[in-house]
Amino acid sequence: MPAHKRILLKLSGEALMGDDAYGINRATIVRMVREILEVTQLGVEVAVVIGGGNIFRGVAGGSVGMDRATADYMGMLATVMNSLALADTMRQEGMTARVMSAISIEQVVEPYVRPKALQYLEEGKVVIFAAGTGNPFFTTDTAAALRGAEIGAEIVLKATKVDGVYTADPKKDPNATRYTRISFDEAITKNLQVLDATAFALCRDQKLPIKVFSIFKPGALKRVVMGEDEGTLVHV
Ligand code: UDP
Repeated sequence: MPAHKRILLKLSGEALMGDDAYGINRATIVRMVREILEVTQLGVEVAVVIGGGNIFRGVAGGSVGMDRATADYMGMLATVMNSLALADTMRQEGMTARVMSAISIEQVVEPYVRPKALQYLEEGKVVIFAAGTGNPFFTTDTAAALRGAEIGAEIVLKATKVDGVYTADPKKDPNATRYTRISFDEAITKNLQVLDATAFALCRDQKLPIKVFSIFKPGALKRVVMGEDEGTLVHV
């Protein structure tokens, strides 16, 4: 039996790049979608928020010197592109996905309407929330916390490059160990970066647990959903 009935999965845009330096790597997105397919087959309702860092970020790279709000809107559009790619790959894998955007681009994707999102989830469709929160100066981590709370997800699953939260940076410190679980308060005291500060505060206020895990580890998403020891659980 899965440990969760409804999950909010946050994928970073960079996760789609694979070994490429930019954009969407075909083999990587297919592999990721198959991991998601496996958990939908367990009967788990899945909502996804995807970032845009593989294409454009409001605060780095091509945006340097730009007006911040304009650059952030470009970043949000990048997440729409990733969402479309993800939904299309899901279609190819036999899944039904719906993209809902926080900014209106109705010829391309339907707008985010909460009751409709809930309906899709109940119907077993994967819902992909595009364009972050729809507001500049925020991140897709915050969108994940926000949408997760709105749809009553039991947990936010944050897929990262590392397989959890460590006592120190495992790339720099060979003695770093992974936390199996840690409370919100302990994570703050120890100054551990789990999500960005706004997203973290929202999850904490809403008592929405977060699981940090690696999407690159085959089967990890399924193990997380089954409640097995994988990644790090941030709990109330
Ligand atoms: N963004 C934004 N508001 C949001 C979500 C995203 O302005 O609610 C913009 C912001 O410029 C950000 C970019 O979209 O840099 C891509 O999102 P993010 O950096 O969160 O993507 P990730 O790092 O997860 O790939």
